[in-house]
Amino acid sequence: MMLHIISRATAKDNGLKAYFTGKACKHGHIDLRLTSDGGCYECSRIKQRNMPNKAVKLKEWRDKNKEKVRAYNRKQNTVNGDKRRKSRLEYYYRNKESCSNAKKAWAKANPEKVALARIKRRYIEKQATVCFSNKRKIKEFYENRPKGYHVDHIVPLNNSFVCGLHVEYNLQYLPASENIKKSNKFKGVR
Ligand SMILES: [Zn+2]
Repeated sequence: MMLHIISRATAKDNGLKAYFTGKACKHGHIDLRLTSDGGCYECSRIKQRNMPNKAVKLKEWRDKNKEKVRAYNRKQNTVNGDKRRKSRLEYYYRNKESCSNAKKAWAKANPEKVALARIKRRYIEKQATVCFSNKRKIKEFYENRPKGYHVDHIVPLNNSFVCGLHVEYNLQYLPASENIKKSNKFKGVR
């Protein structure tokens, strides 16, 4: 129920952008590491945060000028709030297909980014397992199992790339024969 520990070399061999050692960096963060230089994710997040870029500066200005911002937004919304809402909706519906196609194309061109987003999400979910898993529901799921079916983890708990969660929403019924066939293969990534 945790991110699988792989070495940097393995990550490199598999073309992964990130890997997870389970060990703390020199600043004590337990986080993903970048395959290219072994750098810690949390460290780079902190570095980024401390770098005053445009967005940060803008936020600082907004924080200092809250009244101005509020007045501006209020004015804009009363003057053309409906218009703004309408044009936003129109844009969305007009470009619904191209938006989703662009998204798909991007995902296809960046499989390693998609995979990385997935591992990161899994990592976060792992930290949330305690809050989210419902022991009663899991028990019920096992108890209601139809004859001839196994309880299967949709994302396997023991896969070399991702590890699923022992939570009710990661469970499904599979015919016993199918479950044996499926083993721990996970087709979601690579
Ligand atoms: Zn660090």
